[in-house]
Amino acid sequence: MRKIIIAGNWKLNKTPREAAVLVEELKREVLDIESVDIVVCPPFTALDEVSDIVLDTNIFLGAQNVYWQDNGAFTGEVSAPMLKDLGVKYVIIGHSERRQYFGETDETVNKRLRAALTHGLTPLVCIGENLAEREANKTFDVIRQQCQGSFANLTDQEMQKIVLAYEPVWAIGTGKTATPAQAQEVHAFIRQLLGKLFNSQTAQWVRIQYGGSVTPENIAALIAQPDIDGALVGGASLKAPSFAAIVKAAKK
Ligand code: PEP
Repeated sequence: MRKIIIAGNWKLNKTPREAAVLVEELKREVLDIESVDIVVCPPFTALDEVSDIVLDTNIFLGAQNVYWQDNGAFTGEVSAPMLKDLGVKYVIIGHSERRQYFGETDETVNKRLRAALTHGLTPLVCIGENLAEREANKTFDVIRQQCQGSFANLTDQEMQKIVLAYEPVWAIGTGKTATPAQAQEVHAFIRQLLGKLFNSQTAQWVRIQYGGSVTPENIAALIAQPDIDGALVGGASLKAPSFAAIVKAAKK
């Protein structure tokens, strides 16, 4: 049985002080929830502050990106050992905003996730089609290409350590959620594809989150789908009551 995983992507929001207020409130709201893996991904500058607050709680710390080298002359980058040292457990890799604005490709996603795995961080790898690709009936082709490129040369054991997030780009931050049926169709396709790229045990094991305008109102119908194992939440993760409501509604 795959455990539900709900992750909050705070993007470029919250100073360390604001992050502390948010996560203190969240901690109280989700105190007794054991059946869901809860992850918060603040900006790098708030990781240290949030790490202290979530220590020994049921909330895991995540980062929003990681560089593939451990150290060296790479101005502005942050490495996996640096994140580990701060208590980070998860790292978002290949978010569509990184692909769109910062030149992320499937190849760089592959390098980042290798670095994450090497240092014992769990990658949350984002894939998904944009509106033009969906309208041109290219969704499955795009997903296939992203999976083949991002997960190139991984063993089954490595793949089993990864969490995927299917995030149709047209649904991110737009208020236009994929219908549960639309999301399930792609999740089922991804699982089937993993069964071809890896073994069937791996395909059944890997958790696939949905992301794109998830709210307390729509999460239950999404999570009820057989291949949806959680959510990556942007906007609704910036307020403790809405993120906590999503976590509570996701308890299957
Ligand atoms: C995201 O940032 O991954 C995301 C899904 O954002 P939102 O929930 O705001 O659409």
